[in-house]
Amino acid sequence: MQLSIASIRERRGASLPFDFIVPAEEWAPLGGEVPAVAPVHVHGHVTNTGESMLVQGEATGEFALVCARCLKPIRARLRADLEERFRRQAGRAPQRDPEWEDVPAGGDEEDDFRPYHGDRLDLENAVREALLLQVPMKPVCQPDCRGLCPQCGANLNEGDCGCEPEIGDPRFAVLREWGKRPPEDK
Ligand SMILES: [Zn+2]
Ligand SMILES: [Zn+2]
Repeated sequence: MQLSIASIRERRGASLPFDFIVPAEEWAPLGGEVPAVAPVHVHGHVTNTGESMLVQGEATGEFALVCARCLKPIRARLRADLEERFRRQAGRAPQRDPEWEDVPAGGDEEDDFRPYHGDRLDLENAVREALLLQVPMKPVCQPDCRGLCPQCGANLNEGDCGCEPEIGDPRFAVLREWGKRPPEDK
C-alpha cells in the first residue's frame, strides 16, 4: 500500500485518487488476530494541504472472527473511514518493521502526523488500525445465537444437550443469558 505522491508534492491544493486491492494472503501477516478472508479494498484520495498530505478514503474487507457466544468461526464485513495526515521526514526511510512503529501516541500535536519518506506514503498501518477499530467487541454468528451450554459446553444451536433446562421460569431467563457469556477476561 505504497502511494506515490511525487506528482503533487510541490503542488499545494492538488489531490490524487488511489485504489488498492490487497489480496487476503498479503493482509494475513498484517491483520494479526484478524486475518482477512477476501481481498481488502482501500480507496480514496490524497491532498497536498500545504502543511501535510491528507489521506481520506475508506477500507473494506471480510475478516475471520470467532462468535463470542458459541466460538464458531465467522466471516465479518468491516468498513472503516480513513483520515490521516502524513508529514515528510528528512533522512532515509527506516527498515520495514512489522511492528506498529508509527502509531501516533496522541496528545502532542506533532503526533497527529504519520511520517513519510521521499515521495511515498505507506498506508498499511493506517488501514490496519482503522479496520481493527471496527472489529466488534462481541461478534456473534447470528443475532439469536444460543451459545454453549454452561454445564456441558455443547453448542446449543445444534440442538438441546439434555442438561437440566431452566425453561419456564422467566426469572431464570436473565441467568440463562448470563451463563451463555464467555469469560470476561479475554
Ligand atoms: Zn454463535
Ligand atoms: Zn449441556
